[in-house]
Amino acid sequence: MLKKILDQKSCGKCRICCGFDENDKWEIPLVFDELREHLAQHYPEVRLTSRGNEHVFEMQFNGDEVVFCPMLTETGCALGDNKPFDCRIWPFRVNSFNGHKVITVSPVCGTVSELPLKVLTEFVQGDFAKLLFETAEAHPDMVKPYIAGYPIIAVEAK
Ligand code: SF4
Repeated sequence: MLKKILDQKSCGKCRICCGFDENDKWEIPLVFDELREHLAQHYPEVRLTSRGNEHVFEMQFNGDEVVFCPMLTETGCALGDNKPFDCRIWPFRVNSFNGHKVITVSPVCGTVSELPLKVLTEFVQGDFAKLLFETAEAHPDMVKPYIAGYPIIAVEAK
């Protein structure tokens, strides 16, 4: 989904978005129903836990220790194109900001963060923003809290 601005090689070498610790476990991607069915069929050993009206991968945390997603393999995400929506759009995220839904970009992704704001804005505006806001409407649990300092790339039109 992000091929225009993020090449697969950069992504493949970096696994930062697939590791979580106690403080950012709320970033664990949501597993929507279609993916739950896919997991039940192909990865019956993977355990999920509920979060709001959705599900996430069950992971055990121990303080600051980084725990990697159970779908991460030596060659990348085992789910390929079936990976969770949150993963397909990361480092973009939908946040709630002063009562509005906004799209931000996480500075944790060095490759995308280095791009000029103009490039990010042009990429997000239009179909991509529409898809993110529509999906957030259908899955409100994917709207994450805004973190001060994260660049806001788009604001939902009311
Ligand atoms: S589902 Fe795949 S892309 Fe998403 S966090 Fe897990 S390993 Fe990474």
